[in-house]
Amino acid sequence: MTTQFRNKPRIPCPHCGETAGIRKSQGLTPVYREAVIECRNPECGWRGKISIEITHTITPSDMPNPTVALPLVPRLRELAMAQATTG
Ligand SMILES: [Zn+2]
Repeated sequence: MTTQFRNKPRIPCPHCGETAGIRKSQGLTPVYREAVIECRNPECGWRGKISIEITHTITPSDMPNPTVALPLVPRLRELAMAQATTG
């Protein structure tokens, strides 16, 4: 049984493995965001930057943003094409 992803996803410090906390995040585009993270271990003290990129759509939005073009995950694209040819 894994307990790692019980609650919110957590990012471990790459140096000591302690949970790193997100200090501030900034959205640069609708699908790309950067954040500063800080290790919670006072004996470590590491700080760094992370980037989060949205790469695929699993369920399409009912109110899509016309400037956002995200590919469907490959398996769903096959399903959508199969539905398009049979429907
Ligand atoms: Zn650390």
